[in-house]
Amino acid sequence: MTTTVITGIAELVTNDPARADEGGLLGLLTDAAVVVEGSRIAWVGPAAEAPDADLQVDAGGRAVIPGFVDSHSHLVFAGDRSAEFEARMTGETYTAGGIRTTVARTRAATDEQLTSHVARLVAEMRAQGTTSLEIKSGYGLSVHDEARSLAVAAQFTSETTFLGAHVVPADTTPEDYVALVTGPMLAAAAPHARWIDVFCEDGAFDVDQARAILAAGSDIGLRGRLHANQLTYGGGVQLACELGLAAVDHCTFLADDDVSALAASGTIATLLPGVEFSTRQPYPDARGLLDAGVRVALASDCNPGSCFTSSMALCIALAVREMRLSPAEALHAATAMGAAALDRDDVGVLAPGKAADLVLLDAPSYVHLAYRPGVPLVAGVWQAGRPTVG
Ligand SMILES: [Zn+2]
Repeated sequence: MTTTVITGIAELVTNDPARADEGGLLGLLTDAAVVVEGSRIAWVGPAAEAPDADLQVDAGGRAVIPGFVDSHSHLVFAGDRSAEFEARMTGETYTAGGIRTTVARTRAATDEQLTSHVARLVAEMRAQGTTSLEIKSGYGLSVHDEARSLAVAAQFTSETTFLGAHVVPADTTPEDYVALVTGPMLAAAAPHARWIDVFCEDGAFDVDQARAILAAGSDIGLRGRLHANQLTYGGGVQLACELGLAAVDHCTFLADDDVSALAASGTIATLLPGVEFSTRQPYPDARGLLDAGVRVALASDCNPGSCFTSSMALCIALAVREMRLSPAEALHAATAMGAAALDRDDVGVLAPGKAADLVLLDAPSYVHLAYRPGVPLVAGVWQAGRPTVG
């Protein structure tokens, strides 16, 4: 198998807990080198000790980080909602009901149109350093359209999530729709999905409905995750912790009991600050969560309604500037913690045996991700050992 050594790395973020004593949270190494063999990392260490390899790449005194792990996105959709965004920015408030406008457009699109649209967004993410991502359904809301949305998503990632319980469609009752989601729709979606998710919120699904839907998914082997406490206080976060879900996402409106439940559980709080930025809502208390011992991830929530950014670097900048995370905490949340939120330990960390998903920054330090908001800093991306950008 061909080996490549990347040398000249001024600052290498490994996220390797074995390097925490000297390298802190990020397992930081300076003057480092990485050897890639096939799709995996073969060696990490000081440049002076790097072994020989078939090929050599010079990072030129720049920083290398693990590729971003974006654990929350809604890429399978059609249509444009920029007019709704403009209206919101001129005074209208965001509600969950806007999802229905995308549903009509998505149902009308062909498989080919949906696939090419997802391909474009995935390429956009890749160019910005995202090497692992989760994709949800949730704009089909019929048996046929949820199943085909997931079949499209599965062409791009193994982390596919059935979100039939995104909102109740206009032409049915909540009771009938939950029965559909937990019955025929789940059966049609399951072959294409690893996860099941529910939008647990006023105007979407309540805690009892979420519990029933997650239980139905669990019964046929889908692992649960949850949208909760985005717009209002409620029982969603407590439910996620009680059920031991991998992640509960948004966590914007939390009571003290919610924070202590998260701290006592293995459930990761995934924060999506692009949503608050794009809906002009208050940000979640990321600092308070970390200080309480909660494990926190950052993700984009890329979707056509509440947050149409695919930039994990923007999420890092917002987490640092608006949510008082340190640049190291924010990068860790966007990589290693994103992997943990997907129950993965093979990505989000640069250590021997792990996936060779690396990003070369056009900067001497990872701190530039927050220090230079809005500036494209990705100079190169390796996905499973193959250069894909730069
Ligand atoms: Zn979402």
